[in-house]
Amino acid sequence: MKDFQYQALPMRVRFGAGSLASLNDEVVSLGLKRVLVLATPFQADMAERVSQQLGELSAGVHAEAEMHVPIESAHKAREVAAAAQADGYVAVGGGSTTGLGKAIALEFGQPIIAVPTTYAGSEMTPVWGLTADGEKKTGRDSKVLPTSVIYDPELTVSLPVKMSVTSGFNAIAHAVEALYAPDGSPIISLMAEEGTRALLEAMPKIVEDPSNIEARSDALYGAWLCGATLGATTMSLHHKLCHTLGGTFNLPHAETHTVVLPYALAYNAQHAPQAIAALQRATGADNPAAHFRKLSLSLGAPASLAELGLKESDIDKIVEIATRNPYANPREVTPEGIRELVTAALHGDDV
Ligand code: NAD
Repeated sequence: MKDFQYQALPMRVRFGAGSLASLNDEVVSLGLKRVLVLATPFQADMAERVSQQLGELSAGVHAEAEMHVPIESAHKAREVAAAAQADGYVAVGGGSTTGLGKAIALEFGQPIIAVPTTYAGSEMTPVWGLTADGEKKTGRDSKVLPTSVIYDPELTVSLPVKMSVTSGFNAIAHAVEALYAPDGSPIISLMAEEGTRALLEAMPKIVEDPSNIEARSDALYGAWLCGATLGATTMSLHHKLCHTLGGTFNLPHAETHTVVLPYALAYNAQHAPQAIAALQRATGADNPAAHFRKLSLSLGAPASLAELGLKESDIDKIVEIATRNPYANPREVTPEGIRELVTAALHGDDV
């Protein structure tokens, strides 16, 4: 018998190849007059082009977004935004750029228009993150949820193949945990299953031909759905582990998600039958965890946490952090269980 709550998040999505052309209309329809364009240094050229497209609606470009939003970069961006008298932000890029927009919005409460160019999904969530003194803090605040999102697959064609694969698995990890989240719902499960299916179908085609715009469109569609499931639910063991591996050991975000996902799912599988049934439909495989592992390796993803720089001597600390505070998870989180899981992921054992 069904028993759930579902809170829809208020935002507008414009989706389609070439939809970046609708950015000016979006800015005007939100009543904004001077938006600051945000990007990483690597995507500064793209941000300049967006700023030119905006013309008088642009308050300039700030292309200094960094992974995990160091507090200093948040302070600087807020100063730049205030000096430019910006009344909103256009975040063109991946989770790092959206994260910088959120850090400004957290202080000033002005709208963000996100233009995602990876599959990370931050644009669909009210979750912000800030890193100070080597520790990443996160929180939820409706102020940081982007008001509008423009998904233009043409902007993802330049995403390198390796990152397309790992970012795709990052998105799938959101869907996997949403399927067994304590605050899941039938609509979120539909989105999770369909998002996973779309990404799994698209990724091999992208590896074969990174400029395949149909496949890019399908992958971004999947990323949207998976991101929406992240925004709507409480995440469990997998995200907790990846947060620790990224925040404390500085492991790369999308790659870490890709390596850990099969092990975290295998850990929970027996305790999450409905999630497994949905993933069996999405993957067409009896053992979705093994399928994720096999597919990710065949598409060139990293094989182990050791490959990403983790050491055997780091495991004690991971176990300690991952079991310090209780959190929702289908299977009890025990020190022995986490040690076994992380050791297997460290070595890249079979799932
Ligand atoms: P990223 O934003 O750090 O991007 C990685 C690199 O790829 C950057 O140099 C970027 O400029 C470049 N890049 C992005 N799109 C490109 C494209 N289309 N073509 C060429 N280069 C491109 O990576 P990410 O994985 O998208 O984001 C990771 C960050 O986002 C982490 O800090 C993570 O914690 C955060 N995140 C937050 C949430 C949330 O809900 N708050 C959700 C997911 C991720």
